[in-house]
Amino acid sequence: MSSLWIKNATVVTLDADGTVLRNADIFIEGKRIKHLGTVPPNITADEVIDGTNCVALPGFFNAHTHSPMTFERGWAEDLPFPRWLNEKIWVAESALTPDDVYWGAALAACEMIRSGTVAFNDHYFYMDRVAQVVEESGMKATLTWCTFGIGDDKEVGPGADAQLAFSVERQGSADGRIHTSLGPHSPYVCPPEFLKRVVELAEKHDLPIHLHVAESLPQVENSLKRYGQTPVEQLDALGIFDHPTVAAHCLALNEQDIAILAHKGVYVPRTPITYMKLAMPIRTPISALQAGGVQRIALGSDGPASNGTMDMWEIVRQAVWLEKYTQTDPEALPGDAALRMATHVGAQALGFAESGVLAEGRPADLILVDFRRPHLRPRHDVIASLVHLAKGADVTHVVVDGRLLMRNRELLTLDEERILYEAERHAFRMVNQNMQQMREYRA
Ligand SMILES: [Zn+2]
Repeated sequence: MSSLWIKNATVVTLDADGTVLRNADIFIEGKRIKHLGTVPPNITADEVIDGTNCVALPGFFNAHTHSPMTFERGWAEDLPFPRWLNEKIWVAESALTPDDVYWGAALAACEMIRSGTVAFNDHYFYMDRVAQVVEESGMKATLTWCTFGIGDDKEVGPGADAQLAFSVERQGSADGRIHTSLGPHSPYVCPPEFLKRVVELAEKHDLPIHLHVAESLPQVENSLKRYGQTPVEQLDALGIFDHPTVAAHCLALNEQDIAILAHKGVYVPRTPITYMKLAMPIRTPISALQAGGVQRIALGSDGPASNGTMDMWEIVRQAVWLEKYTQTDPEALPGDAALRMATHVGAQALGFAESGVLAEGRPADLILVDFRRPHLRPRHDVIASLVHLAKGADVTHVVVDGRLLMRNRELLTLDEERILYEAERHAFRMVNQNMQQMREYRA
């Protein structure tokens, strides 16, 4: 079994007591942490990393993203949400190929590893190609093939049945690093009959569900008009929440909705940068979810087309600042709570429940941050420095299941140079092809 020994680091365990160990060692054997703090005498390892002046902490679990959408970032900025979606994103995606998805996700994987993310909760099309990226990169992921449930001719890919079958077939693949879930896009796109089918499949194959819920007040009003229920009430009545569910966003809830999410233990990932960039009103802040008993609040990047970055440091920081600012309360969402949302809660949301905490016996999914940087001194409070000051580029090493994916900022599993070239080439092709189609259509 391979072994890796990180010596003399500051270890932020993120355990229930918030333990921080100084001058501590981490000894990893196989996929798990065998010793934490001190190691027995006369022990040897295949590889030793000097952790002096470094901080070790659990790697990030990005709880809601559409990773292949790197190809659209920087291309649809400064637009209102309907124009952003209708005139840009959906137009570009009408030319989407499986290869675009592969290279877009590979680009995202380079960025995620470089900034300390060990796992991502992906919701998109052609997920068999994202699975390939997960296999090659060594990351962990929960993959969801997005379905609209409005007829196979309108689905992106081989049709809803095959997309749902992907979740059944690939669950637990890549030596357990790939998890899957069922992915109806949202209750405003998917008809109730289709959502019932999703519930049946979840029941039959013991699969979780990942979808978008209550992103805006108009969505809620439409749902009330059509079904006499809010989206949360409708999903609850259909039985969706009787299975482990990740309900992204939930920005417009009433008190009853919050009570349902709390009672059913639904995971709610928030993606703060998307809300700010697209100026989406947050009618239900994190503080209101917490006050109503929703414990499982996680953080994510959303698609890079809306969020720009896949860097979870920025997302943690913006979540904290956005909550303080909108609540006009500097004590709202303390940094250590946000850090746990981005690590341990995210890990649970993705079904890797043992990860997100550093302890003996736990999976070795961790990162090292170099504190020999001007912006990280003085070291008054390591959690405060991580939350408010650290950057993706400060991450030096990334370990997933005991395997190094990055050593001293060098990516070990992905051919980054080729990915930079191919991802950009595919992005340009997609955008240009569409511009050509649009010109022909208008002529
Ligand atoms: Zn999303």
